[in-house]
Amino acid sequence: MSRAPDTTLFPPVQAPTGTTRLTAARAADYGTHQATFGRLPAHTDSDALLAALRDSGLEGRGGAGFPAWRKLAAVPARERARRRRVVVIGNAAEGEPLSQKDATLLLRSPHLVIDGLLTVAGALGTHSVYLYAQASVLEAVGRALAERADAAGIELREAAESFISGEASAVVNALAGREPVPQDRTVRLTESGLGGRPTLLHNVETLAHIALIARFGAAWFRSVGTKGDPGTRLVTVGSDGHPSTVLEVAGGSRIGDVLRFTGVDTGTLSAVLVGGYHGAWLPAYALEARLDRADLAGFGANPGAGILMGLGERRCPITVAAAVATYLAGETAGQCGPCVNGLPAMAAVLGRLARGDRDPGLPGEVRRLAAIVTGRGSCNHPDGTARFVLSTLTVFADDVAAHLAGHCRKDHR
Ligand code: SF4
Repeated sequence: MSRAPDTTLFPPVQAPTGTTRLTAARAADYGTHQATFGRLPAHTDSDALLAALRDSGLEGRGGAGFPAWRKLAAVPARERARRRRVVVIGNAAEGEPLSQKDATLLLRSPHLVIDGLLTVAGALGTHSVYLYAQASVLEAVGRALAERADAAGIELREAAESFISGEASAVVNALAGREPVPQDRTVRLTESGLGGRPTLLHNVETLAHIALIARFGAAWFRSVGTKGDPGTRLVTVGSDGHPSTVLEVAGGSRIGDVLRFTGVDTGTLSAVLVGGYHGAWLPAYALEARLDRADLAGFGANPGAGILMGLGERRCPITVAAAVATYLAGETAGQCGPCVNGLPAMAAVLGRLARGDRDPGLPGEVRRLAAIVTGRGSCNHPDGTARFVLSTLTVFADDVAAHLAGHCRKDHR
C-alpha cells in the first residue's frame, strides 16, 4: 500500500519571489525563519549540491565573485568522499570599511547563514564548521545558534578587525591561533587548510543563497536577475565615505536605480565607487550601467562585495583617493615588499598631487609604482590598491589636470 506524503515533516512553503529573498523573514528568530522559508531539506551529497550550484550560476558574494560550485569542486573528490575530513568556514570578517552587508545579514537572517553552513557541511559529511564574524554581531549570532539543536556543532569565532582580515588564508590563520594575516600559498586551502585539512570557505551571503537554492532549486534562483548575474545580491549603498543602507537587489540592476531607490540624488554625483576600496570608479555618465560583470568590465570594476559609494561633485576626488590609498597602505600585513615599500610610496605621491604639488611627473610616478606592486604580493592587496589608484587617475583625469594647473576649486576635506 502506498503511503501519502508526510506533509507535516516538510510543510510546503511558498518560495520568496522578487528581490526580497534573503530579507524575506520579518524577524530574525528561528520560528519566523521556518515559517518564512520552511524547513531545511535533508542533506544531499556533494555531487548533487555541486550540480545545483553550477546550474544556479551563483557567484561568491565576498568580493572575488568566484563561482560557488567551483569552490566545492576544488575540494579533491577523494577528500569529499572521505567523510568528516573537510573544514567548512562561513566568513563574515567584512574588513572593508564601506561594507555592512554581512553584518546586516547576520543580524537580520542569521538562520539562512546557519542553514547554508549546515547544507555544505552535510553534503561533505563533516562536523568541523566555523562561523567567523565581527564582534558587533557575535551576541546576536550566538543567540540564533542557541535556538536550534542542529547548529550545536558550529563554532562561532570573533573576526580580527583589519582590512585584510577576511582574506581566506588570513581567516584560516586566525582560526588556527596565528596572526590573522594572509600567507603565501602554493597549495590551495581546499587541499590543505586549517590543521592541514581541506578547507572550504564561503562568504556568509553566499551561504545564505546556498540555503535557498537547497530548498527551492537552481531554476528558482535564476528566476530573478539576468543571465549573467542571476539571483539577488545584498548591496551597501552610501555617499561620501559613509555606508548608509543595505538592500537586496536583483542581479543586473541598474546602478543609478539602486542609488535613487535609497534616496541618493544621482544628479549631484561626480562618480560612484563600485566594489569598495579595492574597486574602481564609475563616472557619472555611466550610472545607468548594470551592476554586473559585463557592464562594469570596461571600467575595470565588478560587483565585488556589492558596494556603491557615491562621490559628491563638490568633493575633490584626488583628496578622497589619496586618503583611501593612505589608509590601504597602513592596512597591510607588512610582510611583502610591494606592501612595505610600494603602497606607502604610491599613497605619498598621490597625496602630493592632492595637496597641490604641480610636478607634472606625479601621475606617471603613481602609474609606475602601481605597475611595480601589481602581482607581487602574497595576497591581492597590492593589486586591489593599484586598481583603485589607477581608476582614480583615469576617471578623474580632468581633476588631475586641474591640480597640476593649480585650478582645483573643489572641497579638499
Ligand atoms: S601582499 Fe601585503 S597584505 Fe598581502 S600578505 Fe603581503 S604584505 Fe600582507
